Amino acid sequence: MVFDLGLSATALALLGIVFGAIIGSFLNVVIIRLPIMLKAEWTHEAKLFLGIESNEEKSINIVSPRSQCPDCGTLIKALHNIPLLSYCFLRGRCAHCGSLISIQYPIIELLTAFVTAYFFTVHGISEKTLLSLLFSYCLIVLATIDMREQILPDQITLPLVWIGLGVSLFFGFWATPEESILGAALGYLSLWSVMCLFKLITGKEGMGYGDFKLNAAIGAWLGWHMIPTVILISSFAGAVLGLLAIAFYGHDRRSPFAFGPFLCIAGWVSMEWSDQLLTLFSYLAF
Ligand SMILES: [Zn+2]
Repeated sequence: MVFDLGLSATALALLGIVFGAIIGSFLNVVIIRLPIMLKAEWTHEAKLFLGIESNEEKSINIVSPRSQCPDCGTLIKALHNIPLLSYCFLRGRCAHCGSLISIQYPIIELLTAFVTAYFFTVHGISEKTLLSLLFSYCLIVLATIDMREQILPDQITLPLVWIGLGVSLFFGFWATPEESILGAALGYLSLWSVMCLFKLITGKEGMGYGDFKLNAAIGAWLGWHMIPTVILISSFAGAVLGLLAIAFYGHDRRSPFAFGPFLCIAGWVSMEWSDQLLTLFSYLAF
């Protein structure tokens, strides 16, 4: 169903940019705070398990305390917290102490604004657009957390599996319920088998369980038939960028690098251009 608001393409794009930048600002908060909350929880549980007194307080959650400068601790005024605009007129510095604000903030806001404007203008405002955006926002958060911390939180990957199964059942935009269930299973097991094989040969673990769960979520959303495409694109992109990083930045080939962001990119591309990709790969295969 398309909700026709009678807006021109330009108005839809502007609406997408404003709405997307606000969501992007919220995604930044999740990206920064969720790993801190998880680490506090793990430390608390580990201390309890070891019988050590734990005073890890739940001092931070997604909504409180209010945002503050990581350097001087000054609370950020609402006027200095406007997505994209504040970063520009503050020239990327804290209004109080002048320390640099991470470039991640405007990049995530800009990316989210661009993705939202893209779906609004290309597909209109519909149920499918809103679900595509939900999937895209989760992928943006997962990819960035994985790049920063090398973790893919279960708190996002597992609900994403269930939501994907639900979407196939109630809407069937990308996959039938059968394709979705098989997709979740194949998504998980395919990477898990690659990890087992890799471990057998090299004795090392090349991938984390978070990658399997993320791939299961992608399979649940897009169906089992998209999993080979997702793995092909993510491995190819990962290999190319990995080699470039080793060649140009002297990245140590033994040090880990996150595979999650490549899965996220492959999942997003496969959602939006599934038919074209399947046609392309069937050409290449025969
Ligand atoms: Zn400051």
